[in-house]
Amino acid sequence: MNMGTKATKLISNEPNKQTKKSLASYGAQALKSAKLTSFGLSRKQESDICLSCGECCKRYWITILPNEAKKIAALKSVSLKDFLENACVLNVKLFTKTTPGVLTFPTTFFPKRVFEIVKKEMGAVPESFFIVPQLVLLRLEKNTFNFLEKKSKTEMRFACNYLKANNSCEIYPARPEPCKLFPFIAMPDYREQYPFCGLYQKTSKDLSIESRIYYKKVQQYFKDVNDLGFDRVWRYQPKSGLLFLGEKQIGDISIRELIQMTPRKDGD
Ligand code: SF4
Ligand code: SF4
Repeated sequence: MNMGTKATKLISNEPNKQTKKSLASYGAQALKSAKLTSFGLSRKQESDICLSCGECCKRYWITILPNEAKKIAALKSVSLKDFLENACVLNVKLFTKTTPGVLTFPTTFFPKRVFEIVKKEMGAVPESFFIVPQLVLLRLEKNTFNFLEKKSKTEMRFACNYLKANNSCEIYPARPEPCKLFPFIAMPDYREQYPFCGLYQKTSKDLSIESRIYYKKVQQYFKDVNDLGFDRVWRYQPKSGLLFLGEKQIGDISIRELIQMTPRKDGD
């Protein structure tokens, strides 16, 4: 349907009885949908489901992009330096890859210590890896008692630093995209992969368009790190880092080691 043509027609003609009826129903529809969240639920419904759960905040590392870091620091009224150094962690993921490409580096660049960690895990170390260096929100062991469910026992779990005891988010207006889009796709075929997510179980909304837009931003971030170097993309860096082989944590890693493994392409 060509919305442009339809809109012009509605504006330029005095509405007849039928058009008035359509406009009224269109208005009601627009009003109704304006009250719904991207999951097709009311804000109250969505909030009730998430406040009684908080599982995505407890299970995953949440990756952030540079502009999201600035928004969170501003919301918390702390400097970007303070936020990146103290409220974030470096996550470096290694994926086996032999063909050249963005963020693909030979293992000859690996510091001996990192090489040995990978060797211990894999036996034979491949010639090159796709190296994904990301900043994630700090996770802490905390009491995840949920007063809404009135659980009798307290429960200590690792969870996002910003998750409060009632499962609300301390930085909700500036929460990163992965929090907004979780679990990214809402197609029935995938529903069984996220049985813990009540929101996903209750919606048929497909978030693939929003997710594609987000993935494009992530791809641009990878390209920036590849072309400019990690320390130019992130002016300040976290004090601690974790090394992963795929999704499995295999050790720790420092910023200095990461920079040695991923020399910038212009050689500066
Ligand atoms: S930033 Fe907020 S929504 Fe995202 S994981 Fe942390 S507590 Fe949950
Ligand atoms: S998005 Fe799903 S997993 Fe996350 S808090 Fe809401 S219901 Fe729980």
